[in-house]
Amino acid sequence: MMKNNGAKQGGVGRKEKSPTPRNKNLHADESRDPYLNEQPEGEPARCSVCGNIYANKRWYRADQYELEEGENALNFTCPGCRKVKDNYYYGELRVSGTFAQEHHGDISGLIQNEVHRRQEKNPLSKLVEVEIDRGKKPEIVFHTTNGKLAENIGRALKNAFGGELTIKKPKPLTRVYWSRK
Ligand SMILES: [Zn+2]
Repeated sequence: MMKNNGAKQGGVGRKEKSPTPRNKNLHADESRDPYLNEQPEGEPARCSVCGNIYANKRWYRADQYELEEGENALNFTCPGCRKVKDNYYYGELRVSGTFAQEHHGDISGLIQNEVHRRQEKNPLSKLVEVEIDRGKKPEIVFHTTNGKLAENIGRALKNAFGGELTIKKPKPLTRVYWSRK
């Protein structure tokens, strides 16, 4: 699998030329997300990685659903965690600017909160990977399991800290750029 980050290999980060996802596995349009086709064959089921619960034909965040006492849950890795494992993403958020470098802690905190909040509606929303792209213009790159999550995080950053937000949706990837000097 291709990693998209020159920094990890000690090379020089490069600017992307096309909106083509670098992840070779990423091919299906998000409306036909292949990971959602695979669901547990029985209920309830619990994700062995994050604790999400599958019941009533949907996923709940671990703290949103309580199993009855003595109730056994099937073991199943939820589609969100499978995407994380496979490095399969539909959203990319690139954060740049000196503000981000100086307020790294605030920004990470806000992003974690936003992910947690969004998981109430969609427990399969997760950060897939966080990388530093040390190109000419250093960026922190966040990959997200769904495009909406990248968009929501971008809007939350803009609401909290101002700056400039750009959202592009070249299928199948949603690309979000947030920057503040
Ligand atoms: Zn999970």
